[in-house]
Amino acid sequence: MAGRIVVLGAGESGVGAAVLARKEGFEVFVSDMSAIKPHYRDELVRRGIEFEEGRHTEELVLNADEVIKSPGIPNDAPMIVKLRERGISIISEIEFAGRYTTSKMICITGSNGKTTTTSLIYHIFKMAGMNVGLAGNIGNSLALQVAEDPHEYYVIELSSFQLDNMYDFKADIAILMNITPDHLDRYGYEMQNYVDAKMRVIRNQTENDAFVFWNDDPIIQRELKKYGITARLYPFAEAKAAGLAAYVEDEKVWFNTPESFNMEQESLALTGRHNLYNSMAAGISAGIAGIRKDTIRKALQTFKGVEHRLERVARVGGVDYINDSKATNVNSCWYALQSMPVKCVLILGGKDKGNDYNEIADLVREKCCGLVYLGLHNEKLHGFFDSFGLPVADVQSMKDAVGAAAGMAQKGQIVLLSPCCASFDLFKSYEDRGDQFKACVRAL
Ligand code: ADP
Repeated sequence: MAGRIVVLGAGESGVGAAVLARKEGFEVFVSDMSAIKPHYRDELVRRGIEFEEGRHTEELVLNADEVIKSPGIPNDAPMIVKLRERGISIISEIEFAGRYTTSKMICITGSNGKTTTTSLIYHIFKMAGMNVGLAGNIGNSLALQVAEDPHEYYVIELSSFQLDNMYDFKADIAILMNITPDHLDRYGYEMQNYVDAKMRVIRNQTENDAFVFWNDDPIIQRELKKYGITARLYPFAEAKAAGLAAYVEDEKVWFNTPESFNMEQESLALTGRHNLYNSMAAGISAGIAGIRKDTIRKALQTFKGVEHRLERVARVGGVDYINDSKATNVNSCWYALQSMPVKCVLILGGKDKGNDYNEIADLVREKCCGLVYLGLHNEKLHGFFDSFGLPVADVQSMKDAVGAAAGMAQKGQIVLLSPCCASFDLFKSYEDRGDQFKACVRAL
């Protein structure tokens, strides 16, 4: 029974969803409040899919049988409220795509580490010669692949916003890295709402499915008790304990998934404690999918890392510059600071999402030799950190930030961009912020 599908938001996920909906015989209409990026616009025109931009026309949206919503549109947006009042089903692109494929779904969520773990898993699967697609929040539409380039496995990065509108979808392997405060501005400043969204990754799982999670996360542990989970559990943690699918002992990382093997922790391509967790989650998931230990080991040793995540940029005047622009919340900055081997000048600031800086206070005292506040509104940072007695600078451009940091850092130290905040006050995106950082460092 085809009907009318309205897609709200014409980005990667929206255009992919429209293509799949058209293929499945629906009448499709795409509506975007903003200007549509030229290549997505061209794609819609080329395919003869009807659309509008710069507005949502009520008569063309409220007559939908079902709406596919871009994860970027908040649930309290006026059109979403109107759709809900009328009882019209609102789903995510992933939910929609899931209806038209029986491929195996490996879904990664968490507050931090999603993109790194997703990329690592994809890298292992590729090395193993599997027919695998990369999808979700990482930037590739699942629906488009399901429509036109199907794969046997999909490795899907899921944000809480995508999970919010998922109902019948099921992950064959669900991976939950951690849950720490983020995006609270989109969850009514109610942490539990955000936690509930994250836990949706295990929705509909059965005893034939797998749930991989960080065992030391207090929120995950608390939540586990609330759910009658039937999926097979694959917890991982740093310290060895009964029942773990991965842990560290004698400087080796041990895996039991189901083949048992180990590898030198030193040999992991990605460094830092957070990346140990990411490597564990990826190795476990690959093992569950039947990939042999030699391939997993080799893949975890050769992964090149992901741009804007603790990315080493250059050494200038004996100072190492590290781009961690993707650290858009306080917890990710905690891990970045924690992995710093020497004192660093920290560049932080941007669009605050309800941040509590207490989490990094001790590490800032221990690891930082200077702070550069980079944002339109730095009052909260001044209020929290100025009393620490470190040199501080207040800047509104990346050029000034890098200049100020270079002035504070001594030879042998590090300048770390790990902002704790979203980038939208001064930059187009975290990528833009990271790219500007790299360009400014290279111009020093
Ligand atoms: P996400 O996709 O969830 O935002 P990324 O893999 O892009 O996660 O990493 C974002 C930032 O979070 C990185 O810059 C890094 O500092 C930090 N990070 C990465 N993995 C973890 C982890 N497992 N736990 C905590 N922080 C992490």
